[in-house]
Amino acid sequence: IKNTNPFKKLNDEIFVYVAKKQKEIDELKRLELFRREFLADVSHELKTPIFAAQGFIHTLIDGAVDDERVRDKFLSKAAKSLDGLDALVKDLVALSQLETGEVKMNFDRVDMAHVTHEIFEQLEKIAHAKRTSLVLKSTPPGPVWVKADAQRILQVMTNLIENAVKYGNENGHVQVNLEEDKKFVLVSIRDDGPGIPPEHLSRIFERFYRVEKSRSKDRGGTGLGLAIVKHILNAHKSKISVMSKVDKGTTFRFKLERVD
Ligand code: ADP
Repeated sequence: IKNTNPFKKLNDEIFVYVAKKQKEIDELKRLELFRREFLADVSHELKTPIFAAQGFIHTLIDGAVDDERVRDKFLSKAAKSLDGLDALVKDLVALSQLETGEVKMNFDRVDMAHVTHEIFEQLEKIAHAKRTSLVLKSTPPGPVWVKADAQRILQVMTNLIENAVKYGNENGHVQVNLEEDKKFVLVSIRDDGPGIPPEHLSRIFERFYRVEKSRSKDRGGTGLGLAIVKHILNAHKSKISVMSKVDKGTTFRFKLERVD
């Protein structure tokens, strides 16, 4: 018998409509939760350096300023907290622009070997202090051209190489490899540091996620470096992967489109 129920079609349409609306509501709820969590994270992260600087400055006002040694120590600690705050605000602005897709990438022809050498030079002081060697291996040797936004790919490489030095051991080795294949350049940044335990590995690209909170803060980290890396590479249609073994070291890898 033919289904003659005139309401059947209407019923189906209503069902589809309600399901669609429910999906939209779920998505809005998810965004609202994300926004609230983000705000809570950000205010917490901002408070830490502000409270620290306030503490040092008030102690100075309350009399510590009279002791020359204490004064110098507290002033430099307050300055360090404010430097951390400055880095945090800069990273936050960069990340929020990347997350909302506000920034336009300026794709250009970039030599990754040159970028790497530039960063090695910038990090020479901290690498020297830790007696860490910085090595670039590129096959073939010489310039390695990719299509990328020069400023942003410099930022990606800086964050990864700086982390490798920062979290690596004393007398460590950091190696950057650039390998060309037909279409891509494969970039890897390897250290022989303490590694990242497997349970943390999938989370290190989340904003403010740190394996060891105190260690990261001691080393001037904002907890945003890898989130920024992920977003920039995303805008290059590239994905970053990480492999790590506790007590052996960590390797980050990604690909970029090759140009001649
Ligand atoms: P941070 O500013 O804290 O360095 P990142 O987003 O750059 O933030 O890194 C997130 C966390 O991942 C770091 O706090 C650190 O615990 C871990 N990490 C990143 N790179 C390495 C590495 N090469 N070796 C060991 N741990 C690392």
